[in-house]
Formats: sequence, structure tokens, C-alpha cells
Amino acid sequence: MEENTSRVALVTGGSRGIGRATVLGLARDGFDVAFCYRSDEEAARSLEKEAAAYGVRVLGRRADVTTAEPVRELVAEVEESLGPVDALVTAAGITRDNPLVLMTDEQWQEVIDTNLGGVYHVCRAVVFGMMKRKAGAIVNISSVAGVYGHATQSNYSASKAGIIGFSRALAKETGRYGIRVNAVAPGFIETDMTAAIEGRALKDVMASIPLKRMGRAEEVADLVGYLVSERAQYITGAVLQIDGGITI
Ligand code: NAP
Repeated sequence: MEENTSRVALVTGGSRGIGRATVLGLARDGFDVAFCYRSDEEAARSLEKEAAAYGVRVLGRRADVTTAEPVRELVAEVEESLGPVDALVTAAGITRDNPLVLMTDEQWQEVIDTNLGGVYHVCRAVVFGMMKRKAGAIVNISSVAGVYGHATQSNYSASKAGIIGFSRALAKETGRYGIRVNAVAPGFIETDMTAAIEGRALKDVMASIPLKRMGRAEEVADLVGYLVSERAQYITGAVLQIDGGITI
């Protein structure tokens, strides 16, 4: 029998990119998987089918992570349909890049509300159940931008740095309840989010990555799968970079 059979995972931003690869990876590892997304209905339905082919239960629901109520409803439905959430992965995220002198209040707020507010709302909705059960693993997707900062991404870098502080604080708060909380900080990963990087900018990115390529969503998903597994049971409060060496 698979190590993780009949465990339940919830992935935010599961319909595309890193979240999607994580849903598939966790399903392959034997988790029943729920995921949420904001708008891409078609992507969600096709992912449900693809993940269910691993013989696990899969539930994809539209839920905007920027506000508390839809997230609470999502978690309640997931727990009723699949059971208590053992593993939470927060991958929902957006960019709205601009140099600070040109940044609009909307660009600032939308990124903070989605990337950092989203992590807060989902962890808030899940953590009490984990505390009662004295078990749980949370992986919040940060970014190397949150560790080092990226020009034109003061909003995004702030949100991703916030996720690191949040994850470490929560790891300290909940370790005594057997809950592990870690952050993963990817570098450049091939997804819709990075698809617009082209021409000179793409050349510059490639030149700065020692491994000379972008990462794949599946590679991030493998790290997440490890972090929520029994094999990582002594890892908490960590910020694990997966970036092809771009930060060395
Ligand atoms: P992506 O391909 O653009 O996918 C983003 C996902 O988040 C989609 O499923 C999207 O749903 C969902 N989402 C966005 N806003 C949401 C909201 N308000 N409520 C619920 N779901 C929402 O992005 P990605 O590249 O996979 O990135 C995933 C995570 O990794 C993000 O947190 C990102 O910041 C982080 N990251 C990415 C990279 C990279 O190079 N790609 C590097 C470092 C960190 P819809 O499909 O419905 O819009």
C-alpha cells in the first residue's frame, strides 16, 4: 500500500502551472486532492479527470482566496466530501509588475491580497482542524523574489517575503501540535506566469541561471510532495529554494 493512501490534500491555485503539477503529483502519491482556482473552469475540469486517473478522489472548486468567506466554504466542503485536510499547499498567486514610481494602488493591493492575504485566509481556515488532530503539513509557495527582491516587483517581492515570515511564525506556533509549515521559493519556472518573458529579457534570465534553463512545474511539485510526506517529518520553518542556482 502507498505511504500516503487516504490522506487528503488541498492545493490553492491548482488549475494551472505549479499548482496543477502539485495536484497531479499528490494524486500520484495517493492523496485524495481538492484544489481551488479563480476563473479557469475548463482547465479545472480537465485536471479533475487527469488526476482522478490515479484512482484517487479529486475535487476542483472555484474559490477566490482573497476573501475569507469563499475560503471557509471551500474548506468546509472539502472536509465534508473528502475528509480532514492533512496537507495544504498554497500556490495561488499573481504578478502585477511595475516600477514603484509607476505602480498603481490597485496593482499593489491586488498582489498583496492574493499572494499574502490568500495564504492567510487558507491557513486560517485549515489550521484549527490540524491542531485538533495534532497533525498536518503546510507548504506555502513563496519565491526567490521574496528572499532577494526583484526590480519592478516591489508588490510581489513584499508579498512573497511576507509568506516567509508568516510560515516561520506559524511553524513556531504549531510545531507543538505536530504541524509542519514550510515555504518553497522557486526561481524562474516555465508556466503561464513566466510565458511573457522573451527576447533580451529571456536571454538575461538564462545567462543568470547556472543550470541554463528554467525549472519545470513538476520539479517544484516533487519538492512539495517530499515536504508533505513522512520523509520530511523533521523539516519545519524552512525556506527551500528551487531555482537552478540563480541566487548563488
Ligand atoms: P500560474 O500558472 O499563473 O497559475 C496561477 C494559479 O493561481 C492559477 O491556478 C490561478 O487560477 C490561481 N489563482 C490566481 N489568483 C487566484 C485567486 N484570487 N484565487 C484562487 N486562485 C487564484 O502561476 P504559477 O507560475 O504556477 O505560480 C504558482 C505560484 O508559484 C504562485 O504563487 C507564484 O507566485 C509562485 N511562483 C512562480 C514562479 C514562476 O516562475 N512561475 C516563481 C516563483 C514563485 P485561474 O487559472 O483560475 O486564474
